[in-house]
Amino acid sequence: MSGIQIYDSHQGALRTFEPLQAGRVGMYVCGPTVYSHVHLGNVRTFLSFDLIFRYLQYRGFKVRYVRNITDAGHLVDDADEGEDKVAKRAKLEQIEPMEVVQKYTVNFHDVMRAFNALPPSIEPTATGHIVEQIAMTQQLLSNGWAYEANGSVYFDVEAYSQTHPYGELSGRNTEEMMSGSRDLDGQSDKRSPLDFALWKKASDAHIMRWASPWGEGFPGWHLECSAMSTKYLGEEFDIHGGGMDLKFPHHECEIAQNKGAHHHGGARYWMHANMLTLNGKRMSKSTGNTLLPEELLSGDSPHLSKAYSASVARFFIHQAQYRSVLDFSDEALQAAEKGHQRLMNAFKTLSQRAKQGPKEGQFDVQAWQNRCLEAMNNDFNSPILIAHLFDAVKAIQADQNDPAHLGQAGAAALLGHLEAWIFVVLGLQADAASGTAGASSQKALDAAMAIVLDARRKAREQKDWAASDAIRDLLAAGGIQIKDGAEGSSYTIQ
Ligand SMILES: [Zn+2]
Repeated sequence: MSGIQIYDSHQGALRTFEPLQAGRVGMYVCGPTVYSHVHLGNVRTFLSFDLIFRYLQYRGFKVRYVRNITDAGHLVDDADEGEDKVAKRAKLEQIEPMEVVQKYTVNFHDVMRAFNALPPSIEPTATGHIVEQIAMTQQLLSNGWAYEANGSVYFDVEAYSQTHPYGELSGRNTEEMMSGSRDLDGQSDKRSPLDFALWKKASDAHIMRWASPWGEGFPGWHLECSAMSTKYLGEEFDIHGGGMDLKFPHHECEIAQNKGAHHHGGARYWMHANMLTLNGKRMSKSTGNTLLPEELLSGDSPHLSKAYSASVARFFIHQAQYRSVLDFSDEALQAAEKGHQRLMNAFKTLSQRAKQGPKEGQFDVQAWQNRCLEAMNNDFNSPILIAHLFDAVKAIQADQNDPAHLGQAGAAALLGHLEAWIFVVLGLQADAASGTAGASSQKALDAAMAIVLDARRKAREQKDWAASDAIRDLLAAGGIQIKDGAEGSSYTIQ
């Protein structure tokens, strides 16, 4: 079995994953800026890293997964100008900035829980790490990579790029960046438009402010991730992830800060999750081509014909590899819902399989399991994994007709592997298989069906085929399929 290959977007190549410490993984992922509801594109990014987190754990790694909450310092234009996103929303809603932070952090957690994303090991906030950010700024000043101007501190890109390849992650060079940047026009304290803020002086109107050696101010957006990844994972750690849109400037600046402060670029593998489109177009609030997770789950959107369960959406998301663009559409979700149902039905059939047939079957479960592992080892290729899961679905169907197909030991082994892939690695949830039915309604349905199947068994014992067939046909019309086996009858929802 080969090891795990990761596409490192810093080197632009697949690399064999070798953690710094055997058996352990340190992973940092840029979390949300909590000033509004998390959108579906963000959900995809976080589910991509949730899958990676789950798979690494499944393979026996002890993972420390750090995902931050940006609750200060992220300005409206994503650069160093404009209002703080959180403070702007606070003014709009006429509440305290920390109420904004609390409201949207709770919403983010609710959404992550609905999509069955595991919580990270540590979830640090920018406002909780002002001291660390000030210390890193001081370190950069004393190393000569930053300068103070009028109460603000900026990273000196020109000085840094004399000896370091600024642009190494995004593949840009500083001349290109200069030609694409706005002229400072003497309006800024920056020496060059490429410089970015480590610490910004707070204007009188700025609400979120902290004392610092340079007066009252707030940290620059890029600094928190360098400070917090270093604090919890060390100066050098294994994986840094985030959405593709963060590659530049955010992650480029992180590397420069890390190298400038302590000579290591931070992460040894950079991973970027691709974006989500809706009906073939970029999602955008202004054009109305947008979908919130809440709208997906309620069906309350002009883009949808009905509601979809979070598990179906998750299944749909993992049908594409995290590095490819994924397009959401009502049609595609309907197809995913059918696939999700088939997978869950097959799993249920296998879990109810009677002990019959020979010990060993014809289907080579170990070879199949190795193919599944290979798919995930190849840069977490979940669509290939899912294709293999449907090979298992076919094998389960063949086994229904001929129990020599899986055999008793094969069926038990397949059940164990399938359970791990579906629920532990892909993070799907069985309840969603029956639409909006939760665990309690599933239990009630099972009880009712036990009575119906018993009545049908009695009819068959009395050779009342008309009654037996009528029960079967009426259930089929209602979407419930009866399967008769040597050990009795079972049902699945179509
Ligand atoms: Zn970040």
